[in-house]
Amino acid sequence: MYDLVLKGKFLKNGKLVEGNIGVSDGRIVRLSTGELKGEETLRTGLGKVILPGLIDVHVHLRDFRQRSKETVRTGTMAAIHGGITTVFDMPNTDPPVMDSGTFKMRAKLFRGGAYSDYALGFLLNGNCTEARRTRADFYKAFMGASTGGMFSEDFESDYSCAPGVVSVHAEDAGVIARNPERPPEAEVRAIKRALKAAEMFKKPLNVCHVSTAGGIEEILSAGLPWVSFEVTPHHLFLTRKDYEKNPLLKVYPPLRDEEQRRALWESFSRIPIIASDHAPHTPEDKENGAAGIPGLETEVALLLDAVNRGLIELPDIAEKMHVNPIRIFGIRNKGLEVGKEADFTVVDLKREWKVRPEEFYTRAKWSPWEGKKLKGKVVMTVLHGRVVMEEDEIVGKPEGVRIDAGKGNA
Ligand SMILES: [Zn+2]
Repeated sequence: MYDLVLKGKFLKNGKLVEGNIGVSDGRIVRLSTGELKGEETLRTGLGKVILPGLIDVHVHLRDFRQRSKETVRTGTMAAIHGGITTVFDMPNTDPPVMDSGTFKMRAKLFRGGAYSDYALGFLLNGNCTEARRTRADFYKAFMGASTGGMFSEDFESDYSCAPGVVSVHAEDAGVIARNPERPPEAEVRAIKRALKAAEMFKKPLNVCHVSTAGGIEEILSAGLPWVSFEVTPHHLFLTRKDYEKNPLLKVYPPLRDEEQRRALWESFSRIPIIASDHAPHTPEDKENGAAGIPGLETEVALLLDAVNRGLIELPDIAEKMHVNPIRIFGIRNKGLEVGKEADFTVVDLKREWKVRPEEFYTRAKWSPWEGKKLKGKVVMTVLHGRVVMEEDEIVGKPEGVRIDAGKGNA
């Protein structure tokens, strides 16, 4: 007898099967196409699919001195509402997470405050000793300024010193200084430099939010197995034209033209990770030019809508938001297999709904997709074998815990 049995369709080796998932003590005990008995049984029903708990490796949760923008609590509520069971917390906060003391404060905020599981990041900028002292789950470097204004004065030395996976915001500071519009060249030049360093140091590097044809081409043609990259839904689904109509869509790297956007789609099968770069700002901050787009509560639904439109397939979502993040960041306790934590994102592929930012849990109550009809919705989120969100309602207390990251804090 299991604590909980989830009954329905789930992905097994990339294929949809009908069956049962047995969960006890918060972990997956059995995946079966036969019958299983549980003290509690969850039947997901027609049109619904049980995806493995989805992971977003790029999320800004603010808090600290920027609680008006977002808090750990509101941001992780937004995560589970959107079907994200684990978030990666970006460290360019105010104050930034650049020393072991601030890192401890950050960890304390999450303990008892997070509704989803989480990975904690550490910001690199000439603070090698502190980076080595802090057992973060991943490290972040900026090659050019973004929110917070800070960037690595010596990227190569920051990257080589970090004791774990380095996620890098690759936009060249020199190009940005000459051209604040941040043309594709800013990204391509920075990626070339990052790849050169990766070739030299041969250690894990994850390039954040790649937005250009040239950038993707450089990474793919270098073919370094320890280099991964992310693409955001906003770069996949929006262009510069949308930004021209709506100045709120200011974001770094900027939305590109149609040709660049199409290039991302042409390489879609080779994109390892989709991550939101959820960057919440209040409407007033946006009017004053803050860059960033909230994405936690729309990203999975946008991808489900893309499945319905025949652009992608359901296993693509699991691959880019579960399987690959686990492999790339060395997460030991996650995965759709026996012994791993029982995190699931239950989706209804047939459900049609309209994006209404006033119903978001994030404090950034706006969206590029406001009013848009999407087909496909996250209807339930399960964390450690407990239903934590059902039909837009958050259930229970914040019981998220930190991930077990093998590479980050090795
Ligand atoms: Zn970011």
